[in-house]
Amino acid sequence: MGLLWAGVAVAVLLVPFAFVVSTLGGLATLMLGSAALALAAIATGVRLHRPPFPRAWWLIFTSVGLALAGNVIVSVLLPTSMAGSPVAINIVYGITYPILCAGVALLPNHRRPGAAVLGLTESAIITCGVAVVWWMAFVDPTLIDTGLIHSQAYLLVEPFLDLVLFGFGVRLLLLSDSRSVSYWLVSGSCVARLVADTAYLTVGSSAGFPTTLSIVGWVVGNGLLAVAALHPSMKRSVPLPANQASLGRHGATRVYVGTVVATPVLTGLFLLREGLTGTLSSLDVVVPMVATAFTSALVIQRMRQLNRIAAQRAADLEKALHSEAELQRELVFRSAHDVLTGLPRRSVLHDRLTEALDAGRPGALVLLDLDGFKDVNDRFGHTVGDDLLVEVSARLRDLLGAHLVTRMHSDEFAVLLEGATLTDAWATTERVLLAMRRPLPVHDHELFATVSIGLRELDVSLPAADLLRDAYVALHAAKEAGRNQFVLFDQELREKRLEATRTVERLREAITRDEFLVYFQPLIRLADERITGVEALIRWQPAGEKMVPPDRFIGVSEDSGLIVPIGAWILRESCRVVAGWHRRHGTVVSVNVSPRQLREPDFGPMVLDALRSSGLPPQALILEITEGVLVNSGTVTEQAISHLSMLRSHGVRVAVDDFGTGYSSLAYLRDLPIDHIKIDRSFMPTGDTADPAARTLVKAIIDLAAGLRLSTIAEGVETADQVALLRELGCERGQGFYFSRPVPEPDAARLIEQSAASAGVHS
Ligand code: C2E
Ligand code: MG
Ligand code: MG
Repeated sequence: MGLLWAGVAVAVLLVPFAFVVSTLGGLATLMLGSAALALAAIATGVRLHRPPFPRAWWLIFTSVGLALAGNVIVSVLLPTSMAGSPVAINIVYGITYPILCAGVALLPNHRRPGAAVLGLTESAIITCGVAVVWWMAFVDPTLIDTGLIHSQAYLLVEPFLDLVLFGFGVRLLLLSDSRSVSYWLVSGSCVARLVADTAYLTVGSSAGFPTTLSIVGWVVGNGLLAVAALHPSMKRSVPLPANQASLGRHGATRVYVGTVVATPVLTGLFLLREGLTGTLSSLDVVVPMVATAFTSALVIQRMRQLNRIAAQRAADLEKALHSEAELQRELVFRSAHDVLTGLPRRSVLHDRLTEALDAGRPGALVLLDLDGFKDVNDRFGHTVGDDLLVEVSARLRDLLGAHLVTRMHSDEFAVLLEGATLTDAWATTERVLLAMRRPLPVHDHELFATVSIGLRELDVSLPAADLLRDAYVALHAAKEAGRNQFVLFDQELREKRLEATRTVERLREAITRDEFLVYFQPLIRLADERITGVEALIRWQPAGEKMVPPDRFIGVSEDSGLIVPIGAWILRESCRVVAGWHRRHGTVVSVNVSPRQLREPDFGPMVLDALRSSGLPPQALILEITEGVLVNSGTVTEQAISHLSMLRSHGVRVAVDDFGTGYSSLAYLRDLPIDHIKIDRSFMPTGDTADPAARTLVKAIIDLAAGLRLSTIAEGVETADQVALLRELGCERGQGFYFSRPVPEPDAARLIEQSAASAGVHS
């Protein structure tokens, strides 16, 4: 930034200075100085801002450099012959123009060829209009009416090239967005050149040497180029989607219509005047007429191009809608099926179990967990781990045929034995145990994956959730008893389950004893890998015991309602801590909210109160909810939506957490009060990120979110390859072990300071 302002200051000072040093020698020095300044600025700007397309800037650099060299030769080596050899000077300068034009033409690094060509036509229309006026106002009185055109036609070469350059300058503005200060400055520099060379043509040609005005024009032109190269916006390529570019603007159309109407009218008036003053010559008629005809042809061409672009856009839209439908289908499948093994998921088991109970059918629930699966992962890597799971599920399916086999979670499977008596179930379970003792071929290994099993007889007097919980209790018992065996849920285990109830008691005490902590995991803006925010993640540290991760107690706290006070605590604590970071570095905080919390009537007021007492502005808070919260109908969902809508009206933002794992209707995204989507980590491609199948879903989600003006945050980013992929696909932010694990407050504060400090160094 400092450099930029220094450049601006020098450029601004140069101009009045030009009028002070009004001797030609002083002016020439000034001109050489400004060119040198522009060269230095371009070289610095390209190094500093690293534009994606430096070639354009180097072409501009070459052109300015050549002109400078030409000037030095002319004014230093041949000072006396300078006035006598205008042709030679013109040739030197003449070479610099095409190079400069190429530079300016290549500057907008446009991704849409259609828009780029259209930009060319549009700028040509404007340029033609300007050229007609220019011809009538300057060229005609200086060269035609005086008859000088026959001896000094070469004087036209430079201003004519300036017009072409002017055209490219106009195109730059048509293609860029209005915030691109750098492009405006480059275009301004093109205009300054046109003015300078026209001044030379009208005044200088008779005097035979450059005038003050034309030199000031050159100095201004170089100064503007220098500032443009130093301005940070020079690093942006053209970011506008075609529909916001010049073509869509009504104002732009008015300009073209105006040009087409004005040029023939002006030409007519001009010819009339020339006729009246008796200076009408053939050139007077031919040049403006040709330009006018050319303008009209360009306007027709523009219409054709617009049509073509409209058709292309319609086709794109159709394709997007089609892929949205495909994404929808894929998500529906994913919501019911596990991607890795193709087995139905937990929710399917829950539904079928409920049906069986409602129908009063007997049967049993079998819950399996692989023994030592973690070791396999650790020893052979995740790919082998994944393949093992695939093999296991294939074996289960072979063995259990018609029964429902589901994957519950990582290495956990469940089987619903509908209609089975307890004896049948017992026998089946033993068969499974035996079958799993045989080795499984995975890659080049023969792996053993014994299982532990919990068995629960169906009981129509209990809800599905209770039976499932009992099966889990039995499974735990089997693990504790030494694995590779099964346990039937019985009276003794029922006692044990009561233990779980005691966990709830401990949690209740934990609240009063202040045993909870907040860890923070950075949210990273992928464009520059800076920390823009943190996610608050709860931890439980019972006195004298190991730290308990949330997966182990959030569920229990939800069931027992304890999540309401715990959730309120974490919200207040997070706001308090982050308020300081926000004041210093603009850090925002993302806090997880359980569905259960949103059922509380005073959830909304509680959040506002936490914000008020911590001093954290609402804009700095993001609430993370899961998809399920918003999609069901009924008063609970309405309550949740009304809380979130109220909070959003205060500026709080809402993110959908673990997107893609829960409900799968995309339609709801459109109508619900949400701002961000957090793409669940199961979507992160593992292994080869270049694999098209791995990218398709992520890309579809990002595009869909962009279409709905929701920003995306990728969860579970673990590798540099994933970062590169996400950046390429246009994902805005990421979170994951690659950047940082969740860390305690002091460590998070340090990470944020460091990130902010590195930002300071670069600007
Ligand atoms: P979540 O909201 O999806 O949080 C992200 C989880 O992913 C965190 O686990 C985090 O440690 C983990 N993670 C982050 N980066 C990576 C990565 O690169 N790879 C892998 N494999 N994992 C990563 P954590 O802290 O154990 O939290 C688990 C879940 O518990 C959270 O999932 C959230 O649903 C819940 N939770 C955590 N804190 C709270 C809370 O304060 N309130 C509520 N209601 N739920 C919470
Ligand atoms: Mg979360
Ligand atoms: Mg998540």
